[in-house]
Amino acid sequence: MTEDLSTVLEEILATARASQDRGKVADYIPELAGVDPSRFALSVVLADGSQHSVGDTDVGFSIQSVSKVFALAIALGRHGDRLWARVGREPSGLAFNSILQLEHERGIPRNPFINAGAIVVTDAALAGHAPREYLGELLRFIRAAAEDDGIHINDAVARSETETGHRNVALAHYLRSYGNLLNPPEMTLGAYFHQCAVEMTCAQLARAGRFLTAAPGMPRMVAPGRVRRINALMLTCGHYDGSGDFAYRVGLPGKSGVGGGILVIAPGRASIAVWSPGLNAQGNSKLGTEAVEHLARRMGWSVFG
Ligand code: GLU
Repeated sequence: MTEDLSTVLEEILATARASQDRGKVADYIPELAGVDPSRFALSVVLADGSQHSVGDTDVGFSIQSVSKVFALAIALGRHGDRLWARVGREPSGLAFNSILQLEHERGIPRNPFINAGAIVVTDAALAGHAPREYLGELLRFIRAAAEDDGIHINDAVARSETETGHRNVALAHYLRSYGNLLNPPEMTLGAYFHQCAVEMTCAQLARAGRFLTAAPGMPRMVAPGRVRRINALMLTCGHYDGSGDFAYRVGLPGKSGVGGGILVIAPGRASIAVWSPGLNAQGNSKLGTEAVEHLARRMGWSVFG
């Protein structure tokens, strides 16, 4: 198995290196716009605990919306199923930062992974704590999951997000107008922007995702029933309006970020992280998606049998 995997990883790296169309790097803040589009990394932690990586696996990148998975785990830990009174569990079919549905649905965002939903999740995770305390807890959670204390927040990224995040500011105020934001919008947004600015290497992200595999011997950060539900949401909502296509092509739960990272879970088998900064039209890593599609096909990994 491990030998097959090494061959497959080398194939994927060679394909990625040769690829002409790498998608478009996010350019809404200078820290993301300046990332080298030729970067590529793929890391897999198997259920036996072994880790197999190719490419730039030790280069840090901004995990952006992949952080929404960890924030959701913390918010569910605080509130349990009561969280679902404030945020739905349906795919949105719209862009990550769309405001359209919010009016129709009276301030209840479609799911926890579109920006409006993630802002509500962060608001819920704050639950009376100062942003600094929540961010400390988030980092502790991620560091414990990855068993790596070197993971940190990139303050320059957080500052840039704060300066340019007008759409997120609008979403937060809109949520507040419906009574679905309990903290002052600036406070929740400060926490949200810093959460998005968590920086990790591909190798660290693959290790941080191990708790979602629910494989024996992996760190157990949340109850098994909750792991299944987080995976269900990643499968149905983890790639914005590209979620159906990702489920069809890859067949595994995944959460993407605009920094070009994707965390993908093969339940019971593997935690997979991929990073390629160029994005497709839906804002998901182009080569990253192709790489995990290739990996899942060659390894026979799918939640659909
Ligand atoms: N910080 C980005 C935003 O909130 C995250 C988007 C993403 O990674 O998809 O707009």
